[in-house]
Amino acid sequence: MPKNFNHDFSDRFANGNGNARKRAKKPRRLNFSLPKLTMPRLPRPGIFPVVGALVGFAFIMLFISSGGEDVNARSQPHEEWLTPELTLAADGSSQKSQTTLQPGDNAVSALMRLGFDRSTSHNIITAANSSYKLKNIRAGKTFKRADSEAGIEVSYNIDALQRLQMRLPAGEKTWQAELVKRKVYTRQRISSGSIEDSLFSSAARAGMDQRTTMNLVDIFAWDIDFARDMRSGDSFQVIYEERFDDEGRTLESSILAAKFVNQGREFLAARYEQANGKVDYFDPDGKSMRKAYLKAPVKFSRISSRFRLKRKHPVLGYTRAHRGVDYASPSGTPVHSIGDGYVTFAGWKGGYGRIVQIRHNNRNHTTFYAHLRKYGKGIKKGVRIRQGRVIGYVGMSGLATGPHLHFEFRSRGRAVNPLTIKHPPAKPIEKAEKEHFLQQTAPLLGSLKQPPTQYNWG
Ligand SMILES: [Zn+2]
Repeated sequence: MPKNFNHDFSDRFANGNGNARKRAKKPRRLNFSLPKLTMPRLPRPGIFPVVGALVGFAFIMLFISSGGEDVNARSQPHEEWLTPELTLAADGSSQKSQTTLQPGDNAVSALMRLGFDRSTSHNIITAANSSYKLKNIRAGKTFKRADSEAGIEVSYNIDALQRLQMRLPAGEKTWQAELVKRKVYTRQRISSGSIEDSLFSSAARAGMDQRTTMNLVDIFAWDIDFARDMRSGDSFQVIYEERFDDEGRTLESSILAAKFVNQGREFLAARYEQANGKVDYFDPDGKSMRKAYLKAPVKFSRISSRFRLKRKHPVLGYTRAHRGVDYASPSGTPVHSIGDGYVTFAGWKGGYGRIVQIRHNNRNHTTFYAHLRKYGKGIKKGVRIRQGRVIGYVGMSGLATGPHLHFEFRSRGRAVNPLTIKHPPAKPIEKAEKEHFLQQTAPLLGSLKQPPTQYNWG
């Protein structure tokens, strides 16, 4: 079990130095969009009366009862998921309203919409000043007001972690303000599905948000060519941990273990924090999921997946005449080096158009990326390249009938089918840690071996 949750997101690929493909999003940029199928709708801007709170409460109850399966006792007890505000509102003892800041809005206009007069609004802002300057506020943020026998409360969520709480106790004249730590909740979920149309829509039906789906793709990027090799009937099962705030918004999600079955081949991976603090994914035997070469130079994306399933012209596979593999990705799609190495050529070469050639650490191996629209930043002859670095963008330069990437892998100068390259054995977990690793990951991997259960997300 992860001890240090902070590691999850920024350091998930802790040694992915300068590596675009592997770099996880910084935790600061939180995505507040709600995955449609899994989360309760948030109250709309404007008035949020008791009735609304009760409806919200009902949604949250619904959400709790249908929101996936808890894998073990680490999940929060259900009643803790209810926000203090909602429980307060649900017992009918307070009056609540809220307003969302519009572009051009300021704290005064927002507070006045909540029923305060101009001078009270200024008093509130002045009281807040020592804790938080309300002139920093931005559109999209929300002020909430709650009136009860105890007095008036105004709250403003600064970010996922902090709330500014302002209060006028009953019978007093002076507003008080303080910063309050917001609660963050975690729970484990398990989602599974089989792919009918696209991975994204199948994953969404299984209740997974887009980030979790992309994380899943990243974990298996060394084994599965998601851009070319997915077939209907492929299936996945994912155990992940979600953190969400006191309003039910997902803040972060981290995969703990996953299974992917691609064309009948089963791949398993589990997350593990090593003694040196690095968090990474390993197969059940403790071998790193990372390998010398990524399975594909084009990252799977929502757009390219749709493109692939509905493509009009055939995408060429490896033949002796063709010598490479074509990726029919939209123009501008980033192209990643599949392995470490250095650039031996970046320029125009006849029918190949703009082409980048990379010699890898195994010096017998060279890869070619052709028909590029443009080169990646700083890509020129002699530059050292880390696996996953963007070396160019898909285009149709040279002899190409439509935008696609022509990709070749050569061993000792001879073109070989890149889809059949044998990887050098991946680095296993340290011997001293093996037992601990097995102990930690066995329960999760064990539950992935069970036949998947279908959940009703109605
Ligand atoms: Zn080609």
